[in-house]
Amino acid sequence: MKIYNTLSKKIENFVPKDKNNVKMYTCGPTVYDYAHIGNLRTYIFEDVFEKTLIYLGYKVNRVMNITDVGHLTSDADTGEDKMEKGAIRENKSVLEIAEKYTESFFEDLKKLNIKKPNIVSKASDNIDQYIKIIEKLIVDDYAYISNGNIYFDISKASNYYQLSNQKDLMVGARDDVEEDKNKRNPFDFVLWFTSSKFDNHSLKWDSPWGEGYPGWHIECSGICLKHFGEYVDVHCGAVDNVFPHHSNEIAQSEAYLGHQWCNYWVHGEFLTDKSGKMSKSKGEFLTLNLLISKGFNPLAYRYFCLGSHYRKQLEFTYESLETAQKAYLKLLQKVKNLSEVGNVDREAFDLYKDKFKSALRDDLNTSNALTVLYEVLNEKKLSDKTKKSLILDFDQVLSLNLNQNNDLEINSEIKELIELRETYKNNKQYDKADKIRETLLLKNIVIKDTKDGPIIENKE
Ligand code: AMP
Ligand code: ZN
Repeated sequence: MKIYNTLSKKIENFVPKDKNNVKMYTCGPTVYDYAHIGNLRTYIFEDVFEKTLIYLGYKVNRVMNITDVGHLTSDADTGEDKMEKGAIRENKSVLEIAEKYTESFFEDLKKLNIKKPNIVSKASDNIDQYIKIIEKLIVDDYAYISNGNIYFDISKASNYYQLSNQKDLMVGARDDVEEDKNKRNPFDFVLWFTSSKFDNHSLKWDSPWGEGYPGWHIECSGICLKHFGEYVDVHCGAVDNVFPHHSNEIAQSEAYLGHQWCNYWVHGEFLTDKSGKMSKSKGEFLTLNLLISKGFNPLAYRYFCLGSHYRKQLEFTYESLETAQKAYLKLLQKVKNLSEVGNVDREAFDLYKDKFKSALRDDLNTSNALTVLYEVLNEKKLSDKTKKSLILDFDQVLSLNLNQNNDLEINSEIKELIELRETYKNNKQYDKADKIRETLLLKNIVIKDTKDGPIIENKE
């Protein structure tokens, strides 16, 4: 497989250290609020990447963190702690906030058919691991104590700017950096806080340097090193993770290990909206549940994301999602209409499977992979049975529920839509209720209102 490596700025052959076994680390969410659909685009890309590797015959072990402490509103060490901010906003404890949004995050993943990573680890569960790493970094003179906090000294890291390639940019950006007088260099980063403006931070642990809590960057290094040992094959996130988060992860992990740590760094581009980057800090943002409440199928959003390359920005509009949903539902219908009679033409099967693999092997070109799927669907020479076998085979990566039997099976999502429509009707929000009726109609489901409540029938 070929994949773009942010470290080398090249598309490279992907070769794991241990033959067919891939160690994959993906940065997880900061659970202070719902995930927005931009975050979810990144998790869809990572899911497709993992499933592609599995489809190509690799065994993948994937680890992801849940950040429940230490991530400040700027990705550097300035601003407020996001978790504390969420807790104050909702008048709850940090742990309650973390639990609530971790749960909603995994519900979103489920709705999008995103496989849960093999290991999911909470940042707050690994404090000993961070302390162990930080102690060694201090002994080896990569880290220093200043006014109670522990900082990583970036001047000691070789190739600190290799991943981000942005030394000049950084110098230009210095004015924006809130000055922390404890740092030797403005871009040194915090490994452990004991004294800072967050003296009343609610989560604190004992450490050799006093009671405190970890910085955000050490969490991912710590969790990754704990589960994978000295090497990890691939580390993923979105482009905003390149600097400072992943640059800092490389610096501290390699300083700790004394050798190169991760060979492939793979980053997805942003989902944007008309105003630019979609972000939680902007206040109002788009969640998957909001899309569902507007009558969209979560897998139509997955289909929408698969239609564009992960390294290209994707602009979200309701119109384009609507178009994607129509195409997706039409695809479901076409697959459903394929008959089961006849034999699978093995030769044709292998040929198209190879084509599909080639698209994915080519830096995860999901839109070309979808094109192969439509080629299969439209090829007159192929039997229905061959088409269906191929499409269901492709769905191991695409995960679009192409095998769903959309006869009158009321799955939980449809049930939710029907219930939501009832709520809208009761609130006299008839336009919204009608929108849901239209969505269900596209799935061949007709709702009839009776005095005993809604009944559903198949169209035709
Ligand atoms: P967070 O919960 O803020 O730590 O972000 C979770 C993941 O979503 C990280 O990998 C981010 O890089 C990624 N991310 C944040 N904003 C966007 C966006 N607009 N589009 C795609 N990915 C994003
Ligand atoms: Zn991370």
